[in-house]
Amino acid sequence: MKPKIAFFELEKWEEDYIKANLKNVQLKFFKNDLNERNVKKIKNFDAIAIFIYSQITKRILDQLPNLKLITTMSTGYDHIDLEECKKRGITVCNVPTYGENTVAEHTFALILTLSRKIIESVNRTRRGDFSLKGLRGFDLKGKTIGIVGCGNIGRHVARIAKGFKMKILVYDVCKDMKFAKQIGFKYVDLNILLKKSDIITLHVPLLPATKHMINKDNIKLIKKGAILINTARGGVVDTTALIKALDKGILSAAALDVLEEEELIKEEKQLLSKKFPMERQRKVIEEHILIAKDNVIITPHNAFNSKEALLRILDTTIANIKGFLKNRKVNVVK
Ligand code: NAD
Repeated sequence: MKPKIAFFELEKWEEDYIKANLKNVQLKFFKNDLNERNVKKIKNFDAIAIFIYSQITKRILDQLPNLKLITTMSTGYDHIDLEECKKRGITVCNVPTYGENTVAEHTFALILTLSRKIIESVNRTRRGDFSLKGLRGFDLKGKTIGIVGCGNIGRHVARIAKGFKMKILVYDVCKDMKFAKQIGFKYVDLNILLKKSDIITLHVPLLPATKHMINKDNIKLIKKGAILINTARGGVVDTTALIKALDKGILSAAALDVLEEEELIKEEKQLLSKKFPMERQRKVIEEHILIAKDNVIITPHNAFNSKEALLRILDTTIANIKGFLKNRKVNVVK
């Protein structure tokens, strides 16, 4: 008997990809989340692959007596009752990382857009104006980039910065001296990073300790004319302080993929789900005070959104299932 696996919350292209890459199993696909209305349809299934809108509660598990594997196509797993899974011997797997290079590449897309005045240049040639006045940019080579948070994404930013021959300063509560030596960067405290960097880029999670990490007190320390890039979470920066710093010329420009007022986003892929209240998100961006500023560029929380990153989520999910079936489990959530 082939193992029965049900997938939830998938788009058509994702369904086709799974069908092409997962053989010798019996597959069933649902566009919606797994819930108490449709759970009866997979009563005897061995495994489920879900996203964060499928709440895996005791009541759901009670109706899935054969279930042995839950693989979530997300990094977070707080939508799954792990205690109940443990009691029942159900393995839970996740997708620990999928977009570190993707977000780091977007970070550099933002940096280069500012450093080479790409938006002004393109707007001008679209009007048929090929003059260069006011379009002089600056080199990244030799400039200092300050990376705040050097985890999966920050590390990739450091690797790219090295390729540009930039000087690199890093602030992080955890230090990896081996990586620092390999790339050739120095760990410094946040105030020093702010004082010395020409480009400051944020890659910390939003936690109580990182909320308004850039605020009215320390924003004054920033080297005059530096630029700030935020692809982490809007709440890491106090927007009022940011506006003041831009108005006073402390920062010459900012590039933001995330805004403080955004919906609480747990997983970036949530933004692609039909369930996500996109209307509110759009309003937040459209009406945002920063959008009117010439020296601010905003992308709509799109840093994660590459074809390859989304494929990596599916590839990891397939690997989780294959590993489980071969008794070589990977990405198990403890
Ligand atoms: P990660 O957990 O690998 O790295 C985070 C780093 O921040 C770690 O090195 C950690 O030690 C450091 N850190 C934590 N608290 C700190 C503090 N108080 N002070 C200094 N450093 C601290 O995370 P990651 O995968 O690199 O992602 C970073 C963040 O990027 C995510 O938490 C998420 O908010 C954001 N993100 C945004 C997008 C997007 O599309 N814009 C996509 C993915 C992730």
